[in-house]
Amino acid sequence: MSSQKHSKKSNRRGSGHHGRSPHGYGGVRPSKSLGQNFLIDEGVIEDIVLGSGAGSDALVIEIGPGTGALTLPLAERAGYLVCVELDDKLIEPLRVKTFGMDNVEIVHEDILKLDLDTLIKEKTEALGLKSVRVVGNLPYYITTPIIMKLLETAHGIDSITVMMQKEVGDRIAAEPGTRASGAITYPVHYYARVSKVTEAAAECFYPAPKVDSVVLRLDLRDEPAVEVKDAQHMFRCVKAGFSQRRKTIHNSIASMKGCDRDSVAIALGKAGIDPGKRAENLTLEEFAKISDCLQDA
Ligand code: SAM
Repeated sequence: MSSQKHSKKSNRRGSGHHGRSPHGYGGVRPSKSLGQNFLIDEGVIEDIVLGSGAGSDALVIEIGPGTGALTLPLAERAGYLVCVELDDKLIEPLRVKTFGMDNVEIVHEDILKLDLDTLIKEKTEALGLKSVRVVGNLPYYITTPIIMKLLETAHGIDSITVMMQKEVGDRIAAEPGTRASGAITYPVHYYARVSKVTEAAAECFYPAPKVDSVVLRLDLRDEPAVEVKDAQHMFRCVKAGFSQRRKTIHNSIASMKGCDRDSVAIALGKAGIDPGKRAENLTLEEFAKISDCLQDA
């Protein structure tokens, strides 16, 4: 899998920019509130499409097709492509752009509200598709809720290949139990294996965002990474642990609803965890133990 950084240089090398303005997108003026930064770098587009594993046996779900930078190359490869776009003004141009492609469907919906489970079941069964690939250059303001929805509520997804703000991507890709990890690291690694597909500098987009971006691929595990009695309870412990990451794990867990210092001390003792450790020093296995022992307390 490639892991390159696309910058201004690669922009010039690729057929990227073309000096497009909002008018170059059929008069569409990018909406800041919908996180619209359209991809204009051909190298990044190719990396995402190739890195996504989209093939003729796959149902591909594209989140936020926008003006269709990824849509056409994905449609060429996918068995069937469902594009989910929230913005009213982009729907008709997308339908025009994909007119005559009988393996493409444009769904006008909020990805956070869409019943993905039913969509995946219906399409894979009806079309005999063997894999499900989610792809997108995400609206950055809802990156985490989208990823959590995909991981927790949609069954049958094989992989998720998505562009996000680099800082968020670095947290997600970090190893749990390291300084670079954060609350989002743990649920993602619980459900999926994470790899980096490519990086994209701000000038790979129109308009250029204020941040650099990264594309990660999450391959969903057949079984979660660790055994735990109640994964949601473990994630609440992780969240409490990272809510004030300089605090000791004893103090941060004791501030959780329904916990007190004594029972937390007993649970940490049973789990064999040093109460002076901080969340960023605890692995997924250790958070699973803490969660199980707290629930037994
Ligand atoms: N895929 C295009 C590209 O790479 O050029 C557009 C990416 S742009 C960063 C994000 C897209 O997500 C926009 O088209 C935006 O309208 C759409 N979007 C924003 N919120 C959404 C939501 N809740 N559900 C579906 N699409 C959404």
